[in-house]
This record gives sequence, structure tokens and C-alpha cells, in this order.
Amino acid sequence: MTLPPIQPQPCSDPDCHGQHTPAERVALAMSLCDARGVRLTAVRRQILELLWESDHPAGAYELIEALKLRNARPVGPPTVYRALEFLISQGLVSKIESQNAYAPCAHPERRHGCLFFICGDCGASVELEDPQIEQQLADDAAHLGFRMTRRVVEVVGICSRCVAANPA
Ligand SMILES: [Zn+2]
Ligand SMILES: [Zn+2]
Ligand SMILES: [Zn+2]
Repeated sequence: MTLPPIQPQPCSDPDCHGQHTPAERVALAMSLCDARGVRLTAVRRQILELLWESDHPAGAYELIEALKLRNARPVGPPTVYRALEFLISQGLVSKIESQNAYAPCAHPERRHGCLFFICGDCGASVELEDPQIEQQLADDAAHLGFRMTRRVVEVVGICSRCVAANPA
């Protein structure tokens, strides 16, 4: 018996805190790519799956190692970097500059600026959407006559679990 394919369930909840499964988000990414006429190749999909299954932003070399376990033939760094560029260009993944790592965008089905809170202790990251910050950035950019192409806000600190484990 084969299970029915997982259906994407586009989310319109502005306060969503990630009640989506990795499989559903990957299915959603496939349908977005189909609609846009771009291809989510096997390597691109595997990388997206790995990022969704990871509890922290993953670096390129971590991805290369993980891909070794899923593929008979090794996937070289250039292929991985090109796949990451594609995923970023499609808004499916964000690069977390402060960690030199990558995290999946929680809601690629809607336009938003990604806002990540990243724990410097355990490496966990949480993505939020904050319309007020987005509006403020849009206003600031307009004031400067600046055309934004990418906005990923990163806040680095200590997550609630690590704070609880290590009260000051
Ligand atoms: Zn959601
Ligand atoms: Zn996002
Ligand atoms: Zn932490």
C-alpha cells in the first residue's frame, strides 16, 4: 500500500508558529516551483528537506555530508552552492549570514521579510514575521530612495530553552 502524496496546504495565518510538517512544506515548495515554471531538482529538493528536518541553520559542508548518506554518488560543493542559490532566489531558503548557514523560509507562499532569532548557544533558530518591522524598513528604504532586493533580519542571542537551562 502506498500512502497518498502529501498535499501542500498554503498558510495564511500571520501568527503561525510553524505548525507545518517538513513533508508538507517540501510539497508546497514543489507546487510553487511548478507554478513558476522552475524545477525543484532532486538535489534541490533533498537540500530543502534536510534544512526542514534540521533544528538549526545548516552550513554548506553539513549539507554535503548529509547528502552523502542519501545519494550513491557524492554531491560536490559547486552543485550544493548552486542549489542553495536557486532555493534562495525562489524565496524557499534564507542565508543566515551571522552563522554562514542556511534556514528554510517558513512561508514561501506569501511575501514577507524573514526575521530570524538565532540562539548562539544551541544554534536553534526561529522565524517570525513582523509587519511593523517590514513597514519600517520599507519606509526607511523609501526615504533613502533605496530599492531593497533582500531583507533578512537576524537577531542573535540565547533562546528560552538555553536561558531556562542556565539561569543567570
Ligand atoms: Zn503557517
Ligand atoms: Zn521567511
Ligand atoms: Zn538555545
